[in-house]
Amino acid sequence: VVNKMSLKFESRSVNEAFARQSVGAFVAQLDPTMEELGDIKTVVSEAVTNAIVHGYADKAGFITVAVRLLEGRVLELKVKDAGRGIENVEQARQPMFTTGDDTRSGMGFTIMETFTDKLRVRSTPGKGTMVTMVK
Ligand code: ATP
Ligand code: MG
Repeated sequence: VVNKMSLKFESRSVNEAFARQSVGAFVAQLDPTMEELGDIKTVVSEAVTNAIVHGYADKAGFITVAVRLLEGRVLELKVKDAGRGIENVEQARQPMFTTGDDTRSGMGFTIMETFTDKLRVRSTPGKGTMVTMVK
């Protein structure tokens, strides 16, 4: 590991921009292209938004975002919540699957998968969710 950091913040929608900008500022040391930086911020937004709107739909709690810079400009992002968890991860990852209201398109995981090289979702109903992405 070349460098690492983590953020812990409350599940409030204003903190989505905080997480996105903070991770963007941290990964700037890798000299990413505008496109790479945009992709990283987008996947952070998707994962953090999920933790806020789905994980903590009916309660408040903390979200942790951890970033590790690995050898060869490889980046690992972890977004963790202690919210309600996901019953069926395989189903949740399908394009257009959503349990949300009609403002949700069910594309968050598909975007995370498309904009990174690897997406892993670990979730326990009632305990929480951890999304790991490598780019
Ligand atoms: P969109 O991201 O397009 O606004 P969405 O959030 O419903 O819609 P995904 O991000 O792909 O779509 O997530 C799919 C589903 O997985 C969600 O509807 C929700 O049921 C579940 N989910 C995702 N993240 C979490 C989480 N952190 N905690 C609990 N459930 C989650
Ligand atoms: Mg989503």
